Amino acid sequence: MSRFLSQRLLSLDAYVPGEQPTDMEFIKLNTNESPYPPPPGVVSAINAEEIEKLRLYPSPDGNILIDKLAKFYGVNTDNIIIGNGSDELLAFAFLAFCDKTRHICFPDITYGFYPVYAELYDLPYEQIPLKEDFTIGVSDYFGVGKNIIIANPNAPTGIALKLIEIESILKTNPDHVVLIDEAYVDFGADSAIPLIKKYDNLIVMHTYSKARSMAGARLAYAIASAALIEDLNRMKYSFNPYNVNRLTQVAGIAALDNDDYYKEKQREIIETREDAKSRLRDLGFIMTDSMANFLFTMHPDVSGADLYAALRSRGILVRHWNKARISDYLRITVGTKEQMDLLIAAMSDILSQTHK
Ligand code: PMP
Repeated sequence: MSRFLSQRLLSLDAYVPGEQPTDMEFIKLNTNESPYPPPPGVVSAINAEEIEKLRLYPSPDGNILIDKLAKFYGVNTDNIIIGNGSDELLAFAFLAFCDKTRHICFPDITYGFYPVYAELYDLPYEQIPLKEDFTIGVSDYFGVGKNIIIANPNAPTGIALKLIEIESILKTNPDHVVLIDEAYVDFGADSAIPLIKKYDNLIVMHTYSKARSMAGARLAYAIASAALIEDLNRMKYSFNPYNVNRLTQVAGIAALDNDDYYKEKQREIIETREDAKSRLRDLGFIMTDSMANFLFTMHPDVSGADLYAALRSRGILVRHWNKARISDYLRITVGTKEQMDLLIAAMSDILSQTHK
């Protein structure tokens, strides 16, 4: 760090993303990307004509994409904002709704960016412990007197709350913002979008990075009451009005015309996930009932760090955190059936050579 860095930031621990190696071919099961490419309709939408238009700034309000998203979800256009990935929209939400008197809370084990944003903006936050079995203690959030952010399904556990549980949290916190981060909702959980009309304190966030195979395009959207969206726009127009680039907006529009393709791929991923769960259980692995495009799993005979390293040396990248409560667990993205066959073969091989 330089001697010029603000005092305020000296203790900031930045978010550490999963590796994106360029030096070697890995089976990449570490950042929950889709193993499938975007559909042909998205690929052909990024044509020479659109590339020529790169000399022009993109639409700041993303109105064509927002019109299409509004029709897709049956909401009004003033209920939607688009962002450069959910990471950016999360940053806007922390900035817009939290301060020294309006604190924020979230589970102790969840998406690692939440505490980073709280630290970056110097916002007081509380981490509410998950239960022993990694489920969220729903009643811990009743009338909690703080803004709330919950990933549903949660990451890295993959465990989903039911809609009725989310509604019970919303009902008991009418004067605080409840943000449901649905990055992984398309792999089997229920979306809270239908509750938007009933609760003016609810924000639901979706990303194109997982189920829509577009992590590299950086596109996400939040759906909420018009007043909350207006506040988020106030952040966007104070930070980067052109936050979603032209080609990404074009791809995002085309993706909505190809929903059947995505539904089919989501079904395949769910099928592959359930098959991998049962085959890993046969090898003695213990895991949560993940409703996401990843597994959260451990083996009683091998530490998480050893398993991570052994997989890496066999060319398979997964995610491991050296963190209390979860250091023996791995988060493994669900890839293609062939990739999961290779993962399971590697696991059998590692276990056959391991004596704890
Ligand atoms: N929320 C959760 C729970 C995530 O796991 C991720 C992906 N790492 C994000 C948000 C960020 O996604 P995006 O690519 O849209 O920024």
